[in-house]
Amino acid sequence: MNEHLELSLHSSSMNSFEELSIKKSLLSAISDLDFEKPTPIQKEAYPKILSGKNVIGIAQTGTGKTLAYTLPILQELKYSKSFKPRVLIIVPTRELVVQVVDQIELYTKYMTVRITGIFGGVNIKTQQVLLSEGTDIVVGTPGRLYDLILNRSLQTQDIKKLVIDEVDIMLDLGFRFQLNNIFELLPSKRQNIMFSATMTEDVHALIEDNFVDPQTITISVSGTPLDNIGQSCYSVTNFYTKVNLLNFLLKDRTTFQKVVVFINSKKNADRLFEELKPSFWNELGVIHSNKSQNNRLATIERFDDGHIRILIATDVIARGLDLDDISHVINFDTPKFPENYIHRIGRTGRAEKSGNSILLYTVEEENSKMAIENLMDRKINNILFPDEVKISSKLTIEEQPRIIEKNHHKISKHSTGPSFHEKKDKNKKQYNLSGGQKIKLKKAKKYKKPITRGSKRKK
Ligand code: AMP
Repeated sequence: MNEHLELSLHSSSMNSFEELSIKKSLLSAISDLDFEKPTPIQKEAYPKILSGKNVIGIAQTGTGKTLAYTLPILQELKYSKSFKPRVLIIVPTRELVVQVVDQIELYTKYMTVRITGIFGGVNIKTQQVLLSEGTDIVVGTPGRLYDLILNRSLQTQDIKKLVIDEVDIMLDLGFRFQLNNIFELLPSKRQNIMFSATMTEDVHALIEDNFVDPQTITISVSGTPLDNIGQSCYSVTNFYTKVNLLNFLLKDRTTFQKVVVFINSKKNADRLFEELKPSFWNELGVIHSNKSQNNRLATIERFDDGHIRILIATDVIARGLDLDDISHVINFDTPKFPENYIHRIGRTGRAEKSGNSILLYTVEEENSKMAIENLMDRKINNILFPDEVKISSKLTIEEQPRIIEKNHHKISKHSTGPSFHEKKDKNKKQYNLSGGQKIKLKKAKKYKKPITRGSKRKK
């Protein structure tokens, strides 16, 4: 058995942050946040990152990985007046930029550290001005970072530490090219620190190409959900019956206090939003990548501060979200890639709290459910479909059986239908052939011989 499996959020033997011998300013900030002791990833990562070696951390969000990489970096970071940044943190989404910046600001409450968040979709000039004022730590998404490095607004000469967070998602989103471009524009003598929830082939390839002799810390192997999450599932006939079940469950406001509903596509997210609106109009929000940046941030904020109770979200956009006190994660559909299920349910039961996950699956999704159970090596508890919930016979377009149109236009063997017409001579492609070539062509036609080397080879 993998020795790392034994490490869970609860099993840290380290009793306090003092034992890590971190400086006072950091200790005070952490104690203001009421963090009692380092989580396993924090305990494991601290000495390794401090040693200056390249470090790879395999850890899900919710394990305290952000503090795990910022703590040793901040421990070492000295006050500087230089306007050039010394730490670069690359994250996949704008939302994560905001969260990481917010977290670092809390941890540096008693230090003088300048942190700048960079992401696309907003005016680049404002960010150029911010960078020109000087900064120590830059947190950003790959596309905008690359643009700012290219136009020299972001000076990279002094970057000694590079953190790539949620690298699996970053590669999923197709940022490989931008990442490689950024790497080439950074000083070669630097420490690389990388965090990923899962080790995929893409992640492995990135490590092979860029990380010399890395130290790996594995806190939770991919497929191991946190133990403090209760998991159950319902077998449901179709989309609209799932809607009915959700309507029924969500009416219990005492149990379902703060709910994220995961769904596979933007289209279905909007569809579900419209369906739930009549019952929960003032308790409901939806986020996906077609929504504007401002809209997404506002919805997340309203959900975070309790103004809305139910958040519908697609996988990619919700990854990396740091949302507290989620009582339930509802998987409206069953993810095809079992790891996504692990990511989804990791939104609840964060930072040592208990959480609940409910999976709704149709007959077509049974195989995906089994793949999830195999990955976790445990069964999801099946709950009987409630009698009170109406089974809908209405089907979405995708669920409707496909009607294969019969071709009533029989084509006779000797058909002279339009597509069988030979091109008229005047429309035939004309080649500029030399006299010799024309003779060759004629001969070839007559004796059915190959006329080119290529066609010779084919024969
Ligand atoms: P992360 O895995 O970095 O997304 O962190 C998840 C949540 O855990 C964040 O809201 C942190 O504020 C919180 N957290 C981080 N470290 C600790 C700790 N040592 N004790 C309690 N909560 C923590």
